Amino acid sequence: MDHTFKIPLQQHIGAPCKPVVNVGDRVKRGQLIAAPEKLGANIHASVSGTVNAITDEFIEIEPDKEQTEDYVPIKETSSIIEAIKEAGIVGMGGAGFPTHVKMDVDLQGGVVIANGVECEPLLNHNVRQMEEEPEKIYKGIKYAMEATNASRAYIAIKAKNKKAVEAMKSVIDDPRIEVREMPDIYPMGEERALVREILGMLLKPDQLPTAAKAVISNVETLSRICEAVEERKPVISKNVTVIGRLKSGRQAHVFFDVPIGTPITELINKAGGIEGEFGEIIMGGPFTGKAVDLDSVVTKTTGGIIITDPLPREKRKVGLLVCGCGANEARLREVAEKMGACVAGVERCKQVVDVRGGIKCENPGNCPGQAEKILKLKKKGAEALIVGTCSDCTNTVMGVAPKLKMPVYHHTDHVLRTVGHPLVRRLKK
Ligand code: SF4
Repeated sequence: MDHTFKIPLQQHIGAPCKPVVNVGDRVKRGQLIAAPEKLGANIHASVSGTVNAITDEFIEIEPDKEQTEDYVPIKETSSIIEAIKEAGIVGMGGAGFPTHVKMDVDLQGGVVIANGVECEPLLNHNVRQMEEEPEKIYKGIKYAMEATNASRAYIAIKAKNKKAVEAMKSVIDDPRIEVREMPDIYPMGEERALVREILGMLLKPDQLPTAAKAVISNVETLSRICEAVEERKPVISKNVTVIGRLKSGRQAHVFFDVPIGTPITELINKAGGIEGEFGEIIMGGPFTGKAVDLDSVVTKTTGGIIITDPLPREKRKVGLLVCGCGANEARLREVAEKMGACVAGVERCKQVVDVRGGIKCENPGNCPGQAEKILKLKKKGAEALIVGTCSDCTNTVMGVAPKLKMPVYHHTDHVLRTVGHPLVRRLKK
């Protein structure tokens, strides 16, 4: 290995962890290197080596030349929740909420929902894992049911991912667990959208799924629960999709078990290397991912690494339409700036509400109609639109904007265009 591993001290919702090693220490793969003092999750060495540096943000490990597959097991525990806590498991669908806190509930016969929707376009590692490791995910579901005292479980998968649906169905041996097929629209994987679609209950934006006696967990997270309980394995790696402007073509490359702290350039090069001039490196999915620098590293919540085409240029004044599940104002302004566009005004979808310092949607993916907002943006001087809206709302934007002769950009356009994926516009009937 010709690179070091920078392991971030904050890979979860909560406060950064405190290092429990010192510069110069020898560490083994799987060894605890940082622990939370407040809300957080344990962090373990993803490789064996020597601690090179410790900053407020990360612990850097110089890896040994020879690496082995063995690891320091987590300590003995007396419950599933404790094993999850020791292993440092967090929501690996991107949220990063500590799983031992989420699962420390008594659902009194409620339901676990395994989230295999992977509703962001282009990402493929959840679907591939369901196809290739359905047993591990299934066992994770059973452990989650036991930990939360749930009596049922659903595995949510987009109906179009037939192979994953069949693979998960093939391992189910318990009538309390079933697969639910979901439509291919964004944001079908959002927690409250899943509760609504599967349990028929619309939660308020500030309510958690536990209000519906439900816990929702991403399929990779569930597989890590199985690893923690059965193999005593801590979270030291992540499954990642790399896709985009690559010399090897535009297809998705799925990498399983990438050590945490691996530079993203290492993965991009393994996938073929960047082809020519690019626009952004997106970490995450096209809808909610963040534009990052090439010196970023893989963390417990890294899902996708997407290399995009350059962004289009736009000289006209633009209006921005913010979404509670897609692009927020900061992301839309960033896209506008990269396009060279001047912002004439900003409107929020009327279902956007402020919740705990962020924004959320009142009813994810069910459009309230966008005509009023577009007219407001036009009044503010917008000649074109950049929207960050869900599939259903973009559908209604497209019912209005062309009549007003306002060209529409969706903030995912340059990402999806890179790989020839259909743009988010009119929904097919
Ligand atoms: S209804 Fe509005 S806020 Fe909700 S997901 Fe759609 S665009 Fe976003």
